[in-house]
Amino acid sequence: MRDEFPARVKNELATRVAFLCSNPACRQPTCGPRDEPTGTVNIGVAAHITAASERGPRYEPSLSSEERRDLENGIWLCQNCGKLIDSDISRYSIAKLGEWKSDAEAAAARALEQRRAPASTSVGVFLEAERLMPELLSEMRSDVRGDSSQLIREFVVLSNRQISYISPNRPFAYFASEHQELYHAIEWQLEMGMIRLVQPDRHYPLYRFLPHFAEYLRQGELP
Ligand SMILES: [Zn+2]
Repeated sequence: MRDEFPARVKNELATRVAFLCSNPACRQPTCGPRDEPTGTVNIGVAAHITAASERGPRYEPSLSSEERRDLENGIWLCQNCGKLIDSDISRYSIAKLGEWKSDAEAAAARALEQRRAPASTSVGVFLEAERLMPELLSEMRSDVRGDSSQLIREFVVLSNRQISYISPNRPFAYFASEHQELYHAIEWQLEMGMIRLVQPDRHYPLYRFLPHFAEYLRQGELP
């Protein structure tokens, strides 16, 4: 038996994120008008974070049927992302989906407070980066979030973890052995004005996150 969400829960999930897909790399609007003068189109889904039934993805046997149908266990996504999260459950873990959900809700709250979204092109660039280099962004995000004490955040790019790199500033490190085309990705971020090269004239170049990018990583959206 599947523990489906009641309509009330679906509606609340959607409204809490302003009917935008909660995947940070997507943020697709999920509703709008139909072609005719009346009626609406909805391409959103209330997806289960832990599965609605026993053989489903991320199934959690300890949950009661009630908990499985609860708001806590749902995330609002577009149809594509709804399929995506069930296609690779090690990549789209319970923790990852929880992070998407709280970021999307925080972004919706901020957008509401601001009354008008800032006319910023950088958000588009960041979303493009999420699409092109999702793993790198995800690692950068958890580094920046785990390090609230640092005002200036710098990083080095190394070929692999065997290289020892010691610096008093304790920069973050990203490894080419762990990210596809890491050097190109860094080049791209430089070109897009997301990072800056601080010390080119040394063996391991040092980069710095520019404030708006660091802020985006920290908060999920621009403040
Ligand atoms: Zn989506």
